[in-house]
Amino acid sequence: PQTRLPKVGTTIFTVMSQLALEHGAVNLGQGFPDFDVPERLVRALDRAMREGRNQYAPMTGVPALRQAIAAKTERCYGYRPDPDAEVTVTSGASEAIFDAVAAVVHPGDEVIVLDPCYDSYEPAIDLAGGRAVHVPLDPRTFAPDWAAVRAAVTPRTRLLMVNSPHNPSGAMFGAADIAALGALLADAPQVYLLSDEVYEHIVFDGRVHESALRHRRLRERAFVVSSFGKTYHCTGWKVGYCIAPPALSAELRKVHQYNTFCTFAPAQWAFAEMIEAEPEHYERLGAFYQAKRDRFREQLLGTKLKPLPVPGGYFQLVDYSAVSELDDAAFCRWLTVEHGVAAIPLSPFYENPPPGQRLARLCFAKNEATLDAAIERLRKL
Ligand code: PMP
Ligand code: GLN
Repeated sequence: PQTRLPKVGTTIFTVMSQLALEHGAVNLGQGFPDFDVPERLVRALDRAMREGRNQYAPMTGVPALRQAIAAKTERCYGYRPDPDAEVTVTSGASEAIFDAVAAVVHPGDEVIVLDPCYDSYEPAIDLAGGRAVHVPLDPRTFAPDWAAVRAAVTPRTRLLMVNSPHNPSGAMFGAADIAALGALLADAPQVYLLSDEVYEHIVFDGRVHESALRHRRLRERAFVVSSFGKTYHCTGWKVGYCIAPPALSAELRKVHQYNTFCTFAPAQWAFAEMIEAEPEHYERLGAFYQAKRDRFREQLLGTKLKPLPVPGGYFQLVDYSAVSELDDAAFCRWLTVEHGVAAIPLSPFYENPPPGQRLARLCFAKNEATLDAAIERLRKL
């Protein structure tokens, strides 16, 4: 049969986690924390299940959670979305991305993505019958070249997908990026924006997360996606959400209602309580991860791996050219199998990886003992 996703195999995250398991490697590959979920959240989930919150949630999300998301958005970004018309709870950011793309992309439409980009974007576009148009980010700073993005816009362009803080690089948009993006959208009324902000609270050194929600010109045209998996150390719970204007939310919900209908109900009750009762959790998340980043980078100085700057997110890119001539996929396999540390190559995030790029991604959302064990092995390279 003719397959719908001929270029797709098993994701690099699954492949590297499997390899790590087989070889007893310290897994700094797939991005997930190895520490506990906040105690209040666990207790709230337990209580929600015991109190009988176990049947279908409302399709758009439990009202208390949508209200908590709206209130939190106002506290963080000075804009309060309408919880009924503009906030939809989804089964992870992944589902929100899929739903948004399926909702607006028609067969033959073009969707601009900025490489390297998260691996779920292009399959979502392909399944909708669209065509991904890849515009490279700067290979060293991972900043967008807005003139190049603008040049890629055509009358068929339906959607532009952006991600800040960025996976895999940690790069973040600044005010100039927001201005360029706003101007681009103003000149291209046929284009919607999908802003993937799953690492919104993991930002360092006093930086401000430039959410699309802060800016009227952007939010009027945008699906803004986030994930509780990243903010509350529970990537396996798969709860996220999308904030979009009423007309776009209505279209997204048409897909969501037939994709999953609703998201795991007990967790929605638990997050509603957690967000309101402990806002300091997300307010302090940047400082929490900054301590991990700083300690890990300090330790990397004792290895031959050269750390790149990390403005946000929980990934550290390292240049391994002092260690190996292998391409990144081969290097990450070798590192996992021969040296017992699993990492993620960057090439799967690209249509055309920059030739000669020697970068690997290490996840530092880990306990000190995990990072120490990895560093001990990396010192021997
Ligand atoms: N976008 C980016 C940039 C991500 O890193 C991730 C998680 N790896 C997702 C989306 C998906 O988030 P979720 O696990 O909530 O589906
Ligand atoms: N988002 C995670 C990462 O970038 C992986 C998610 C997944 O395994 N699908 O590592």
